[in-house]
Amino acid sequence: MRILVIVNPVAGGGKTLRLLPKIKRWLSESNHEFIYIITKSPEEMHSEIVKAPSKGIEAILLSGGDGTVHQALSAIAETGLPLGYLPCGRGNDFARNIGLSMDLKSNCSFLSKPSFRKLDLPSINQQTPFVAVAYVGFDGEVSRLANDHQGYFGGTLGYIICVLKALKSFKPFEVEITIDDQTLRERVMMVSVANAPFYGGGMKIVPQAIMDDGVLDICIVKEISKPELLRQFPKVFKGTHITHPRIMMASGRKIKIISDEERDLFADGEPAGKLPAECTIGSETIRVLAPSNPNQRSEHGKG
Ligand SMILES: [Mg+2]
Repeated sequence: MRILVIVNPVAGGGKTLRLLPKIKRWLSESNHEFIYIITKSPEEMHSEIVKAPSKGIEAILLSGGDGTVHQALSAIAETGLPLGYLPCGRGNDFARNIGLSMDLKSNCSFLSKPSFRKLDLPSINQQTPFVAVAYVGFDGEVSRLANDHQGYFGGTLGYIICVLKALKSFKPFEVEITIDDQTLRERVMMVSVANAPFYGGGMKIVPQAIMDDGVLDICIVKEISKPELLRQFPKVFKGTHITHPRIMMASGRKIKIISDEERDLFADGEPAGKLPAECTIGSETIRVLAPSNPNQRSEHGKG
């Protein structure tokens, strides 16, 4: 295959750029042809991906973080090119979600003989595709702080620091949520709409979410006290928070969230506008390059 490797030089605080010589060496061991580009902006990345098919490119390989993947989604969907990923960011939830190891060398080596896995590509307001989780409320506040402190905090510890900071000023808010044709009104801490289990650097917000089942899973954390939120928080790393009586899990294909309050929406860790938001999942899909492990699901196993 002719593969375009897109390197996001700012991902992971410059980690991708530092690792590039190693990545080039490991990738050169496969028989694909790799063309490298270091992009300066999400716009440049978008246009390089969109132009790729006309240059005979047959797959895109992103070297960056979850933000890089999120920013590439609409261009990937537009071209239909399969997407490979070398996790070099801080959170690396996309790698967790698709079952990649965190070992860069093995992620380079399986590409010599990858399998193709088809994933659903849900979107917000028919406009912003997302691959893992779209969310509003407390977790959004945490993402906002994490993004503001880029370069200082990383991984789980960085996220926990942002959680403690966000807790100080956070106030629950009232939302109306319509899941398919059922509507509920609640005062909530947060609402997460997930197509994959992991976000926020390893937090399993919706443990049962599956990336190719045509369904979105929702986690609604109803109003609870701040001490209670803090007590529940560590459980999200194992996904055991879901049995809490004030946490509601549901699923659907169309989830609409509205509020009288102005609230920022986030998707895959990136800002994604404001409420109201309608998250839908339908026929849109992307293909990802995954290890060809017979124990892992591939698109051949999907009905
Ligand atoms: Mg799903």
